[in-house]
Amino acid sequence: MPPDVHLVINVDSDPDPVSVYQDDASLLKKYGRMRRILAEHAGGAAAWTVLTGPVCRDRFFEPPFTDFWRELVGEGADLVLHPEEDLYGPPPGKEPGSCTYYDIAHMRPLILGKAEAMRGLGLPFAAYRGGYHGFTPEIGAVVKEAGIGIELSCAPGIAWLDKAAAWEGAPLSAYYMSATIPARPAAPGETGALFEIPWAWDAKAPGTARPRVVGENYIINEFSNLPAMSRVWDAVVARAQATPEPQIVSMVCHTFTMGQPEYEERLTGILDYVAENGGRFVTPSTARHIFDECRAASGKE
Ligand SMILES: [Zn+2]
Repeated sequence: MPPDVHLVINVDSDPDPVSVYQDDASLLKKYGRMRRILAEHAGGAAAWTVLTGPVCRDRFFEPPFTDFWRELVGEGADLVLHPEEDLYGPPPGKEPGSCTYYDIAHMRPLILGKAEAMRGLGLPFAAYRGGYHGFTPEIGAVVKEAGIGIELSCAPGIAWLDKAAAWEGAPLSAYYMSATIPARPAAPGETGALFEIPWAWDAKAPGTARPRVVGENYIINEFSNLPAMSRVWDAVVARAQATPEPQIVSMVCHTFTMGQPEYEERLTGILDYVAENGGRFVTPSTARHIFDECRAASGKE
């Protein structure tokens, strides 16, 4: 039987965090380039983040970006709420180096407000993903309260407690998350659990190549290379072959490198490699549907 493997492409739409301000036209050009590559090489299925952060609280929740999101959704993509509270400078009144993800009094109104704003535009978020893989049980409760059922922050093996990332021992394929320990599956009978889709990992070493960026042991287009990303995919396929259950994992690529041939070629390289080696590209919503169907078919509720 061919391996049953599904890949969610996380598209991180952050502007380049280290460069100067980029105007709307240059960002939309990069977004458009990514959109075309994904349409041609992945059928358009992807999880596009909509960024909010201290220096761009509302920018991506207004035209022309909302028009772009609407077109993407029309083409079958999912939208993902992506607060980067620390990357773009700490919020006013916070110490540099502090971790805002632990501050639920800050995060709660932000998550609820942004989810409501997009719902009001007819563009509800399908999923949530924190910056630096930051996530807490308290954030999980608010994400659910905001009507979002899927979470994408998990990178198994990563433990950066100063960024609220605690994913040691997390499952290597999609799971319903415990409300109290995000890196563990929900207990049987636990209702309303968030559906988590972890980043594809080779399970050999956590990303230690660079500070606060997962590297060659995951599939991350900007901080790895094609042979390394292909090896991670091979590890996922091998796991799929060893179990009757589907493997559901994610990768990440950033729009800020679009227009640079090296990164575009690397991205099309890994997408084609996945497609040629048993992978199917799905949105987070479709991934959950597949997971639920499988579970129902196997009689596990
Ligand atoms: Zn980001």
